[in-house]
Amino acid sequence: MTSHRLLTGKVVLATHNKGKLVEMRELMEPYGIEVTSAGELDLPEPDESGYMFSENAAIKAHAAAKASGLPALADDSGICVHALDCAPGLFSANWAGPGKDFKPAMARVLAEMAKRGAVTAEQRRAHFVSALVIAWPDGHEELFEGRVFGTIVEAPRGTGGFGYNPIFQPDGYDVTFAEMSSTVKSGKDDALSHRARAFKELAAACLRKPN
Ligand code: IMP
Repeated sequence: MTSHRLLTGKVVLATHNKGKLVEMRELMEPYGIEVTSAGELDLPEPDESGYMFSENAAIKAHAAAKASGLPALADDSGICVHALDCAPGLFSANWAGPGKDFKPAMARVLAEMAKRGAVTAEQRRAHFVSALVIAWPDGHEELFEGRVFGTIVEAPRGTGGFGYNPIFQPDGYDVTFAEMSSTVKSGKDDALSHRARAFKELAAACLRKPN
């Protein structure tokens, strides 16, 4: 059996993305862990030079743990559109440009899919990936991954959450991520989003609910 390290006390979320912070805080809440963030501590954002979501999550978590002296949790995530050979993938945030405007990023996804003639439900398949890494200041790390599959809708719908939420409809639902509440997206009983699924694994391995 693999032995995992328990996370107790305080954690830094290695993110400057407010949408991720809101979701992660909601997920962490029942475990009695005090949560701060790299944004709140004004920590620098490291270069995400990895070739996989897990590598980038590890880069961010280790940088925040080193800079803060606290355990740090990082999420690296993105949307993989199958008709686009899994783009934007690792570059999901980059497609929104320096202004982090996801309207043109979503329009680009839809335009590139149209160019490739991706019309049918089967041709519009996509999935989100989340890699979560907890790194401790002594260099120990724990990695967990989650995925959610679905389709890219024909035009953005809804205003909830962040990023590509308005164009992604998870399998088994007739609403997009942006048309659901964050509680439904995270999944009350059963984790739904990629981040919630990765977090479920993380929680089972590294978190305990207070008595
Ligand atoms: P990262 O900060 O490099 O991991 O950027 C990941 C990007 O992927 C985010 O900026 C979002 O654009 C996108 N993304 C990741 N998770 C979600 C999600 O749950 N909903 C919508 N977009 C997401």
